[in-house]
Amino acid sequence: MEITAIYPGTFDPVTNGHIDIIARAARLYHKVIVAVAVNSNKSPLFDVSQRVDLLETVTADMDNVVIIGFDNLLVDCAKQQGANVILRGLRAISDFEYEFQLAGMNRRLSPELETMFLTPAEQYEFISSSMIKEISRLGGNVSDFVPDIVRKSLTNKFKRG
Ligand code: ADP
Repeated sequence: MEITAIYPGTFDPVTNGHIDIIARAARLYHKVIVAVAVNSNKSPLFDVSQRVDLLETVTADMDNVVIIGFDNLLVDCAKQQGANVILRGLRAISDFEYEFQLAGMNRRLSPELETMFLTPAEQYEFISSSMIKEISRLGGNVSDFVPDIVRKSLTNKFKRG
């Protein structure tokens, strides 16, 4: 059976941790759909089209990865896209409680969809988009944590302020 995974998130912005998860998934699944949530209640720094563009650029060499934006219920989006698996990344125990709750709720909403978790390489375990934004806003160097195009986009954002 050819399995399609959907990897939802805010990706505001995409980090090396996300890319590590996408690369691992691309080796496991027939197709990986990275689904960028509009997520206006989080007031993202980048609008959804910018987040999609950045993801497209940094995954350009992965043939079975596609990027979409979505603004509806994840399980509905997964169904529309023909996905069988919801993929999430797990960094630490602190992620577990929320992810466990989310997986349980998505199972109640759509029992045929399985949630699967991948962990990133050790050096990415502590990276979060929110911390990257904070470091960049305060003028810190984020080049170890995000691709160069993301670093430049962050610098531009905070320059225009
Ligand atoms: P959300 O707002 O849905 O948590 P994020 O963009 O922050 O969206 O994260 C999307 C997914 O990627 C989540 O499952 C999150 O746990 C995971 N993730 C975020 N950062 C990392 C990282 N450094 N390593 C592995 N997984 C990560």
